Amino acid sequence: MGRRRKRRKIIKKAVRIPVLFQCPNCGSHTLSVTFRREDSGRKAIISCSRCGLYYEYNNVPSIYQSVDVYNKFIDLFEEGKISVEFKPVIGAGEEISGEEIVEELEELGEEIGEERDEE
Ligand SMILES: [Zn+2]
Repeated sequence: MGRRRKRRKIIKKAVRIPVLFQCPNCGSHTLSVTFRREDSGRKAIISCSRCGLYYEYNNVPSIYQSVDVYNKFIDLFEEGKISVEFKPVIGAGEEISGEEIVEELEELGEEIGEERDEE
């Protein structure tokens, strides 16, 4: 007979501010780790907004936090076990830190009344 657990309200704080780490390539604190949920598992995207370093870390254990991913990444990077990509960095000041971009497209509701002369 299953005993029902008391439901506890867990208030999760949504941390939106990306944690930045030191980039092993350019040395500045502009490296961010972003998690993505994929069908095949959890994925972390490591990217640097300064030099454009980019790496996709697949099958990230669910207990991993950004710092764990970062540490693992640094290990692999130092050992030369992974090959990273470099994505072009667009314009200074613009943050392209790999933050999940949620596009909220507002429906413009453009209603173009076609006024065509139909024969
Ligand atoms: Zn960098």
